[in-house]
Amino acid sequence: MVLFTCWIRSANFLRILHTSSGLGRSSVFLFSSERASVESVFNRRFSDIQSFPLSVDNKMASGRQPSSKSPFPPQIYHNFLVLDFEATCDTQLIKPQEIIEFPILKLHGKTLEIESVFHTYVQPVAHSQLSPFCTELTGIVQSMMDGKPTLQQVLQMVDDWMKKEGLLDPNVNSIFVTCGDWDLKTMLPGQCQYLGLPVPDYFKKWINLKKAYGSATGNYPKSGLPFMIKELNLQHIGRLHSGIDDCKNIANIMKKLAQKGFTYKQTGSNL
Ligand code: MG
Ligand code: MG
Repeated sequence: MVLFTCWIRSANFLRILHTSSGLGRSSVFLFSSERASVESVFNRRFSDIQSFPLSVDNKMASGRQPSSKSPFPPQIYHNFLVLDFEATCDTQLIKPQEIIEFPILKLHGKTLEIESVFHTYVQPVAHSQLSPFCTELTGIVQSMMDGKPTLQQVLQMVDDWMKKEGLLDPNVNSIFVTCGDWDLKTMLPGQCQYLGLPVPDYFKKWINLKKAYGSATGNYPKSGLPFMIKELNLQHIGRLHSGIDDCKNIANIMKKLAQKGFTYKQTGSNL
């Protein structure tokens, strides 16, 4: 019995350690020879995720009911899926615009800690060469996209990841979170229509962080991430318009608003 109790405690500790690391290694999708270098960048970047003074309660990390000491109000969702596309762009409008970076952070619905990461760059097919303007804006260079999967392949990879993470279980209530409505209202449906691909239903409802911030504070953040980061006294992580860095900043804003007592609700739908 004593041995069993020790085993349970060790398993729980390892689980918490894994959860708090924020990087499920097996769930990071990388391609080609950049794997090692990109992975080390991820490790560095994810060590940048801001930690907050309120520590994660063990019971919350293990998925049980939060204790009365929980710093967060109850959330409706089991998981938040933070998503921020980067897409082809130039000084003039590009048609069709195509997704070139596809990151998703899976956050625990009670702790808002990162539990798993999906991330890949995406090979555009209509305009395969990145403009200097796009590289300047996003930090993405041609070699980061060359040889990467197309959007069609990435959507299958996302579906596999969702399955692996238990996100397709009908008893698990998850929702995507984006900064603005563009990602899921315009960009993904537009490119899927261009390619003749169906849009999975899980991409058809979302929380627009700007609207959530507006509801929480009474002050709509027209300038987006930089405004919210500054107003909440957070530190900006990484590079603005890097999809994965933008996701990390969105996650930090979400956590801060939750700590202030905000409960997230769906704001947008394509259903
Ligand atoms: Mg964005
Ligand atoms: Mg972005």
